[in-house]
Amino acid sequence: MEISKVCMQEKKLESKMSPAEHATNNDNLLARSRAAVWHPCTQMKRLETLPLVPIERGEGVWLYDCDGKRYLDSVSSWWVNLFGHGEPRIKAAIKTQLDKLEHVMLAGFTHRPVVELSERLGELTGLGHAFYGSDGASATEIALKMSAHYWKNSGRADKNRFVYLAGSYHGETVGALSVTDVPVFRSAYSSLVRDNFIAPSPDSRLAGPGETAKDVAEAAANGLAAIFAAHHTEIAAIILEPLVQGAAGMAMYDPHYLVRVRELCDRYQIHLIADEIAVGFGRTGTLFACEQAAIKPDLLCVSKGITGGFLPLAAVLTTNEIYAAFYDEDVTRGFLHSHSYTGNPLACAAALAVLAIFASDNVIAANAERAARWSTRFATFAQHPRVSHYRNTGMIWAFDVADERPGFAQRMYRAALAEGLLLRPIGNTVYFMPPYVMQDDEADWLVQGTARALEVALGGQEEQDDAAIA
Ligand SMILES: *Cc1c(COP(=O)(O)O)cnc(C)c1O
Repeated sequence: MEISKVCMQEKKLESKMSPAEHATNNDNLLARSRAAVWHPCTQMKRLETLPLVPIERGEGVWLYDCDGKRYLDSVSSWWVNLFGHGEPRIKAAIKTQLDKLEHVMLAGFTHRPVVELSERLGELTGLGHAFYGSDGASATEIALKMSAHYWKNSGRADKNRFVYLAGSYHGETVGALSVTDVPVFRSAYSSLVRDNFIAPSPDSRLAGPGETAKDVAEAAANGLAAIFAAHHTEIAAIILEPLVQGAAGMAMYDPHYLVRVRELCDRYQIHLIADEIAVGFGRTGTLFACEQAAIKPDLLCVSKGITGGFLPLAAVLTTNEIYAAFYDEDVTRGFLHSHSYTGNPLACAAALAVLAIFASDNVIAANAERAARWSTRFATFAQHPRVSHYRNTGMIWAFDVADERPGFAQRMYRAALAEGLLLRPIGNTVYFMPPYVMQDDEADWLVQGTARALEVALGGQEEQDDAAIA
């Protein structure tokens, strides 16, 4: 049963209950979730001491639990939500599509929403032939396979390895883990994961005294150049997160790095895969992050915000040159990859509604103004004695907190929940990635709640490690 129905049923029962019975009833839902659901990114035993939050409904930046307590969703529910929970235009688009067609397989069939979405994405990116999956990780898999298969079709089957950046995150399926450098996600599966080449991160926090973010980018690009020079005959592609490495702890870097990578890829005949799963759709201040370096990748992965956080959908777009290498009489030279829900009409309708909102609400320009207003508020954290590397790119803000004891992320998460805030620090990095529709008074509320939670977290008791919080 859906959690909302469970909540509703329990609500009916609850109205006849004493406070003690009421508490037991919510505990029941949490106990049932622990018994029946294997929660993602979670050491399940932790739930003995860190209870789940049962959410019944959402509106704007707010999530409401079964008791009506609200939480400001400052991480856009894992970076997917753009225009708030329950955005009426996206909801209406899904309902309209639902009355026509919920799904049809995309092999041998097509439909209006997938055609229109592919055309729109093509216009917006200068790339084409959108290939669909349902999650970010499947987009990564598609891009890696397409690149290696392109080289095979081009008589260069030896080019089948990949380069990824220190601190990178591209999803958690086995192929995606082979280009992901987050030990907590990767180590347990290292025996399953293929070895690839790891290149230095351009993370601007690595700047030494007197160095600029551009200097760090230049040095990282030189490190990449050395890898390309030594191994280009076996390298199919480099995959990277343009401008912000999310799971690394919102590591931000200078666009100069992307300019250099594009040059190096051209020089050594290596594909550039831009993973804009987290940074696409306005997150970094432009519709796509690559625009800030005025570069075009060979393959572009998008997901997360593409449906405004309503339905799972991912897409990979590519150049005509790559597409053409698959176009042949020979079936096995084709890209024979598929997922059951490839190009789902409901998800495509949601994505079309999202793109319509970008146009009608002039979202990119409006976000620049919002970002300026919120930055003046969030910058107060830069003054905190325990905070370093306060940083901002577009609609992402982050800062690092000095705390010698392990478990800062857990303490901060817990303290923030008590303040009515959904915050999920990554290690010692606190970040805000709110829905774009947050109001200024809600931003004030976020600042005040975070400041109070920070004092509690810094004063609180030691917890185990932070591994389960990302
Ligand atoms: C979230 C994310 C992914 C994986 O997407 P899922 O939908 O979680 O599989 C891949 N790359 C980046 C940059 C991401 O942030």
